[in-house]
Amino acid sequence: MKAVLASHNPGKLKEMQLWLEPLGIELVLESDLGINIEVEEIGRTFEENSLLKAATVARATKMLAIADDSGLCVEALNGEPGIRTARYGGEGLDDKGRYELLLENMKGESNRNAKFVSVVTCVFPNADIVSARGELHGAIGYNPIGTGGFGYDPVFIVTNMRKTLAQMTMKERQSCSHRAAAIRSLAGKLEAYKNQKKEEGIEWN
Ligand code: IMP
Repeated sequence: MKAVLASHNPGKLKEMQLWLEPLGIELVLESDLGINIEVEEIGRTFEENSLLKAATVARATKMLAIADDSGLCVEALNGEPGIRTARYGGEGLDDKGRYELLLENMKGESNRNAKFVSVVTCVFPNADIVSARGELHGAIGYNPIGTGGFGYDPVFIVTNMRKTLAQMTMKERQSCSHRAAAIRSLAGKLEAYKNQKKEEGIEWN
């Protein structure tokens, strides 16, 4: 079954394809279909926003659509920036500006607990929904460390690895990432969904 990923990011496509291909799902980007669907993220949770994106793209394309929504939740900031992670501090800031603002807002704070959250949602052409969440637990550092990765990586210390995401190899990152956990969990749920449909006499290929 062909599915469209509500994204223009080839990196995300590659990561998801790895888990979805064995299920007979061939994933393409919106740009591969020559479309660009703007979805306003007005949901109150990662679940609502990823569903909003996937449902909009599924309606527009009449295909199975998959969307993810992710962000950083900091305990001492009452879960902020949360669903606003990508826009933290306003449109004018780049990745570095955003993590510097986070460090500034955490000044003098001893509770550094934080987690990355990723929610991946599938919406089928018949409006069935399958969704999964992955989390990565860690702590906000006092200074940026490491040069790899993107976003808030240099200030996010992974609890079990004792280094920041920006210090990790791609392989290490894959082994612990919230997005990888969500996709793995989604693949399991999709396998169950596929088997259930098969029992109902519906093949999805
Ligand atoms: P979105 O899911 O693409 O909207 O991403 C939300 C924001 O969360 C991004 O802009 C990144 O700044 C941040 N983010 C999500 N995952 C990661 C990660 O693995 N490392 C660093 N930042 C991340």
